Amino acid sequence: MPNERFTIRPKIIQGESLTSYLSRVALRNCISPLQMLKLIEFKNVRNVKLGYSIDLYPGLVSNLKRIENLTDQAICELELMTFWPLIRKFCQVTKGQWSIIREVTEKRFLKYCSLCLQETGTFKLLWQVSEIQICNIHRVKLLHSCPECNKEINYSLVHPPFCSCKSRIRKGKSEKCDVTLTKKQLLIYEEWEYLVDPKTTISPKIKGLNSQRAMAIGLLYLNSTNEYKITSTNYSISLRNIAIGEKGKYVITMKKFLDILRKAGLTPEQFSNLEIPLYFIRDTLVARKNINMSCLTPWCKSFGSADQMKRISHLDCFKNNKLKFSQPSICLDCGIKYGVGTHDGLWQSIDDFFTLSEKIKELMLDGKSRRQIRSIVGIGDFLLNRVVGYLAFHRLIPNEVIRKLKLEVCPKDIVSYFKKIVECATDKRIGFFSSAHKLFGWTSLEYYYYYCHPEVQRFLFLFPNRHIRNKNIAKLHED
Ligand SMILES: [Zn+2]
Ligand SMILES: [Zn+2]
Ligand SMILES: [Zn+2]
Repeated sequence: MPNERFTIRPKIIQGESLTSYLSRVALRNCISPLQMLKLIEFKNVRNVKLGYSIDLYPGLVSNLKRIENLTDQAICELELMTFWPLIRKFCQVTKGQWSIIREVTEKRFLKYCSLCLQETGTFKLLWQVSEIQICNIHRVKLLHSCPECNKEINYSLVHPPFCSCKSRIRKGKSEKCDVTLTKKQLLIYEEWEYLVDPKTTISPKIKGLNSQRAMAIGLLYLNSTNEYKITSTNYSISLRNIAIGEKGKYVITMKKFLDILRKAGLTPEQFSNLEIPLYFIRDTLVARKNINMSCLTPWCKSFGSADQMKRISHLDCFKNNKLKFSQPSICLDCGIKYGVGTHDGLWQSIDDFFTLSEKIKELMLDGKSRRQIRSIVGIGDFLLNRVVGYLAFHRLIPNEVIRKLKLEVCPKDIVSYFKKIVECATDKRIGFFSSAHKLFGWTSLEYYYYYCHPEVQRFLFLFPNRHIRNKNIAKLHED
């Protein structure tokens, strides 16, 4: 009966699952769940327990066109009652990816609120989300087994009294939830309502990339901020492979997605609005497999290691004279900046600071005066102080020479000084040093001495968006 239509076609109830709806249609039209499964050409009629799969990828296990004819509900309306719109957000392929939401949904048994059942006789889709434990309307804990015989209720098409013992599960005892749990659960409901809504997006928008690749880059970006270690190296590698568009077995699962977001304190909606800096997108897309990004400063305690090498977060590339360097980074131990020369593809120091300090160090050890050094190297007082401050902080010149400089011990909360310096510089549109001099009366030597503190470097170069306007910090580099 291909064009047949049920005479009684109940209305869809908000939030109801497709299996629940089909069960109700069957009941009202006096056919059994099994007959219904046959009618909709369910692929696993021999194993009725697999009926839950209709709520995941209805189009793959049943004939949606048929259901549309039978119920007079448009296919898109039918899909709204399933997890399919959500699965589609994770992969654009037509093949079902059950694995994507496997860990976050419950398929072994049907969860229910006995009060909702009494009122509407429906089962809600979101109740099958593992982390959802309460009914958001009645604020009672969801049940999943028969109150009489304790048998779990199969997640498939079902008819009252739902349990083979014939007991009425509608009479199940409902346990009120405490306020804390309710609060948490309502937030989870909100997130899931957003997730399953086909109109919402859950990936940041990146021009030219599909949502899956953009999602991978977004997750890598959250990971890169380093404040929380959220993924294993292996998982980062698969995310990177997805990001660069590598074909293969890589998938982002719903569980990983939620884990990373929750640890970062973001809702899916906030994640979809995440702004990812251009440099990060480019770095991720450029294969950097063959580049050993280790510190090349011989006296640095991180020499040869990439552990303290951090990407300078506000610079897309670094220009020095006519040379350009991509992936500008800084070693937090020695403060020397590195990058990949676009002219030769090699990892190298990106400014002349390293060479300059070597030269000045030698001249100082030779006992040359400041004036002599300035004329030999051909630099001004300001730059000389910058180098001397650096050499002194890193103890690269003898202690007696440092003592003569009469530098104070670095204050314990040196970062808070720099926060004020940055604020004032931003406010008054002046350079950082001018700001330091105004606020604390520091000399340029003192300023550059404190500037070398690893915490200050971390503050200035790693998360500038939180404290500093980008333009200002760019200005600092021009000094
Ligand atoms: Zn309820
Ligand atoms: Zn029972
Ligand atoms: Zn170093």
